[in-house]
Order: sequence, then C-alpha cells, then structure tokens
Amino acid sequence: MVQDNSYAASLLDALEYAAEMHRDQRRKGAEASPYINHPIQVARLLASVGGVSDLPALMAAILHDTIEDTTTEKQDLVERFGDEVAGLVEEVSDDKSLPKAERKKQQVDHSPHLSDRAKMIKIADKICNVRDIAENPPAHWDLDRRRRYFDWANAVVDGCRGVNDELEACFFAAVAESSAAVDGEAS
Ligand code: ZN
Repeated sequence: MVQDNSYAASLLDALEYAAEMHRDQRRKGAEASPYINHPIQVARLLASVGGVSDLPALMAAILHDTIEDTTTEKQDLVERFGDEVAGLVEEVSDDKSLPKAERKKQQVDHSPHLSDRAKMIKIADKICNVRDIAENPPAHWDLDRRRRYFDWANAVVDGCRGVNDELEACFFAAVAESSAAVDGEAS
C-alpha cells in the first residue's frame, strides 16, 4: 500500500534545510548545545503541547530562526517552501536593520498584530528560551538579566494570548518555574 507521504517529506525537508543553515551555530547557553535543537523543540512544543498539526505552522516553527540568524532570505524560503511558510517565518523574524533594544521593543509592540499561527510560534519560542535561560543560562548573564528576560518574554506573550490555551498555560508555568529557580539561586 502506498501512503501519501508528502506531509512527512515536507516536514523533513524543512528540518534538513534548517539543520544545514544553522550547522555552525550553537545556543547561547553555557553548554553551547547545537542550535538546531532549539527549532526542533519549538516545533515539538507546538505539536505536543499546542496540539498543532497544521503543516505550514510546523514547518515555519522549524524554520523560524533562519531569516533572523542565518544567511537565508525570505525569497529562499518562498522558492523552496512556498509563500505561506515563508510569510510565517518573516512574521516571527526581527528586523535585523534595527538595534537590539529597538528590536526587543518592536516584538512587544507587534505581537498583538501577528497572525494566529505566528502567535503560536512566538509563544513556543519563548517557552523554550525561558526554560533554556533558567536551566542553562549564558555564562555572563547574572540573575537580574535573566529576570529582565522573563519580564520581556512575558510582555511579548501577553500580546499573543487568545490563540492557544495550552501553549499559553505552558508559557506562564515555565516563567513561574524559571523565576522561582532564579530566586532560589539568589537566596
Ligand atoms: Zn527561536
């Protein structure tokens, strides 16, 4: 029996592409884990916590940092994965021409205006980042910097509410746990 395998093939194509583009990158945490672990986790959270099975959303989750953090341009994604996936990745990408502080402010300002699927990717991304910072912070991040990150992530996710209760709950639980862990380290 021949099954329609296009769903799996498309997902794996996105994964192969993201792995290739992030191949020389490591996460900022002291353990410096391979970068690709992060987009895999974001996509897995969407599927396992958020119950998302929508293919373009899962592909965009896997590809979500390629425009922002690699040489990939939107047009590369359009040609390989189509307009829908490329548009979602673009939605969740910062404008790299802006300074860091401005980019962070824009994420807060823009999050309420994202599409529902982009909001879900943002929430899953912030869950992963908050957990990473609590469990394996960058070596030079003191406790205050970690707390400031949690506050900022909270503000971004606040603008993404109303699209997926499970992901939202998971995010706020992650922030509560991570804040408690940081407070525990401080005392
Ligand atoms: Zn990310």
